[in-house]
Amino acid sequence: MSRDWTLDAPCSGRTEFTPSEDDFATEGDLKRLCGPLLDTCGPCPFHAACIATVKPAQAKFDGVAGGRLWWGGLVIAALDDVFEDELTEPKLRASCGTEAGAKDHRRHGERACPSCAQAEREMSARRKAARAKQPQQLQLDFATT
Ligand code: SF4
Ligand SMILES: [Zn+2]
Repeated sequence: MSRDWTLDAPCSGRTEFTPSEDDFATEGDLKRLCGPLLDTCGPCPFHAACIATVKPAQAKFDGVAGGRLWWGGLVIAALDDVFEDELTEPKLRASCGTEAGAKDHRRHGERACPSCAQAEREMSARRKAARAKQPQQLQLDFATT
């Protein structure tokens, strides 16, 4: 495997690029906190890889990634010389072994893999059981209103 590019990034090991939610309350706070970090991204050759990894828009990310400052997944500040085509985020796919994973397989024209199919069966069995257990009371309440 090739060397992890994040180790060579100028922000390597600097946690202030992904501040904790306790550190800021407003967009202005975040700008004051992280805006000055943007310059670090300037010489970084990994803008596109950074965005593809962090997926800031999909993840509703707050912090610095790819030469931009993100607030809830929106760009609120950016270096002057960033390129639009760096913004491509690979679509997130639900992990296998989940019901959402099974749906994603179908969305991509695939058959659910065995672990997703299994998860789907278990979930529908669980829902059936939950329905069976639901108190009749509810229906009575509706009937009298
Ligand atoms: S673009 Fe910025 S946040 Fe992303 S790896 Fe480079 S220095 Fe770090
Ligand atoms: Zn699967």
